[in-house]
Amino acid sequence: MKAFYTDHFVLPLPEGHRFPMEKYSRLRDLVSTQADIELVEAPPATDTQILYAHDPSYLIKVINGSLSAQEQRAIGFPWSTKMVERSRRSAGATVAAAKTALLEGIATNLAGGTHHAYRDSGSGFCVFNDSAIAARTLQKEVSAALKVAVIDLDVHQGNGTASILQNDDSIFTLSIHGENNFPFKKEESDLDLGLADGCSDDIYLDSLSQCLDQLHSRFKADCLIFLAGADPHEGGRLGRLNISKEGMRLRDEMVFQFALDRQLPIAFSMAGGYGKEIASTVDIHFQTIKTALQFQKRY
Ligand SMILES: [Zn+2]
Repeated sequence: MKAFYTDHFVLPLPEGHRFPMEKYSRLRDLVSTQADIELVEAPPATDTQILYAHDPSYLIKVINGSLSAQEQRAIGFPWSTKMVERSRRSAGATVAAAKTALLEGIATNLAGGTHHAYRDSGSGFCVFNDSAIAARTLQKEVSAALKVAVIDLDVHQGNGTASILQNDDSIFTLSIHGENNFPFKKEESDLDLGLADGCSDDIYLDSLSQCLDQLHSRFKADCLIFLAGADPHEGGRLGRLNISKEGMRLRDEMVFQFALDRQLPIAFSMAGGYGKEIASTVDIHFQTIKTALQFQKRY
């Protein structure tokens, strides 16, 4: 299974910044111990690809560093040329994983899942919306007939993705998130499920199963993009849900099984994960990758 990485394109952050930059290199270290995974440096998303999902005026501001102080605050990162490169690579990794999945069944981006980025603005540590860019890039560069479903299981709503793809019938957006989590103003996905605080494994997995059934009955996907956020896990600081490590494993298994049963290619990204201990977040992401490996062999 190919895993596209970007962690060596480090985003310079001030000391004490709460974004867990380190989780990406630690995850790659763990992944590199797996003989069945081929680590591949992520290509940068091109301007053309980014513009499938973003306004030219926004892309220009990001490239030029002319984002206002307020716009930078909304993103949560100070602007730098390295920040631009990192954001391009992170989106490019999902594009590459999606294209690879079409050929090989499953592929992953060891970062990405930047679902709070809107057409014309960034937010919540997200500059470019990798899922929207990747879905549209498949349609533009592989086949216009491809229908893509985005399964967003990060604990925060995929508001940017929902907004960018709102009037696009060729891409289905599903988001299962904590109703009381950021973002406080939700957008309308094709299918949203906002869960109550303290949600247990049983309710979570039941809800996922029902949502996947609905997705299947409402939309004929040709491929899937899965945001495998680690932040519903009980160790999360920002999550409000209470999903166990085993619950997270069963979640991932359910999504990969859904894909395998229908022989749908699936690209997945790490998305959020802000455990009290960085090691527990990395552990949950690594668990997703090991689960995917078992399924990749069966494509
Ligand atoms: Zn999140």
